[in-house]
Amino acid sequence: MRLGMYVQVPFCQTKCTYCNFHTGVFSRDLYTPYVDAVCREVAEYPRLLRESGIAVVPNAVVDTVYFGGGTPSLLDPKGLAEILNAMRAGFECKFEEVTLEADPETITPEKATAWRTAGFNRISMGVQSFQDNELKATGRMHRCEDVSRATDVLREAGFHNVSFDLIAGLPHQTHDSWDESVARLLAMRPEHVSIYLMEIDESSRLGLEVLTGGSRYSASALPDDDSMAAFYERACARLAEAGYLHYEISNWGLPGFESRHNLKYWQRQPYCGFGAGAHSFNGRQRWANAHDPAAYVAAISQGKFPIEQLAEVSRDDALEEELFLGLRQLAGIDLARIESEYNANLQPRVEELRAQGLVEWDGTRLRLAPDRLTVSNEVFVNLLN
Ligand code: SF4
Repeated sequence: MRLGMYVQVPFCQTKCTYCNFHTGVFSRDLYTPYVDAVCREVAEYPRLLRESGIAVVPNAVVDTVYFGGGTPSLLDPKGLAEILNAMRAGFECKFEEVTLEADPETITPEKATAWRTAGFNRISMGVQSFQDNELKATGRMHRCEDVSRATDVLREAGFHNVSFDLIAGLPHQTHDSWDESVARLLAMRPEHVSIYLMEIDESSRLGLEVLTGGSRYSASALPDDDSMAAFYERACARLAEAGYLHYEISNWGLPGFESRHNLKYWQRQPYCGFGAGAHSFNGRQRWANAHDPAAYVAAISQGKFPIEQLAEVSRDDALEEELFLGLRQLAGIDLARIESEYNANLQPRVEELRAQGLVEWDGTRLRLAPDRLTVSNEVFVNLLN
């Protein structure tokens, strides 16, 4: 069975104003112990799982790896290579896609070459915008010119699979500035693109400013929901014209460059998560590691598995996941397979949603209606009730 590996690197250089993920600015003294802990977690994984009552995925072949965060490109490339080597030593590996998330300002020729040598073949770059005032307002460290410099460095080092992230809905973003960001992205022709609608955590600095007022984080310059939806829809049209396949609500790829690793999440395939706060799924159980990096390192160094949540996925949970994860893919889901596998009759609900124009059904596959992708959560709630 094919297996994905995810490594969470919870370190950032600064805290973006809208973010309240379990990531942050930690002392660099923690980086080496953290890498050592992840290597040990990988090496001792079968024992750690068994002792926690978690089933090991049988006959697993690791074909995709994804280092996310946080900012994994902050770590010493030697440490990243050690983690990949620990995977090669402990698992049967036939790596096809090995991704590193990187912020543009952290990318240097030396690092890029070392990443290639270690085995990374895909870089996911947190571009977010091609407008310096938008980057500055949200506390991002890079500027627009860093993106073109970093892309040249990656190409020079031999990366032929590069993904750019953009965020629709940043403070100061306008229809014109958004169109310019999309145009500049397309001019650089990354193989893959992710576009996320701005989500502001209520307890982030920007979120608090939205609730209580103030001007420090540009809350009053946030575009409204209609503008955000319009940004997204215009990007959909421009990316389609440029030959990108829209394969998941937030993701596009040139043909053959869909993210194999991320497809595992939407197709409910198994993956192992390593590091603080990493989530895992073995087909019937889901679990997460402790979020605090220091607590994670301490537990692993004592030979303990730092699990915070472990849940059996019931049949009802699995059916819900099939729907709300599967429908994120533009190819939709095979309704007959799901009805037969879960002994469920979803037709009456599907007919209602179809009458409301929320979904399309061609007799085999059920899909979100193309003009309702920005309200996908509403469709999921309706389908699951
Ligand atoms: S948005 Fe990303 S880079 Fe910014 S603080 Fe959050 S995890 Fe770190």
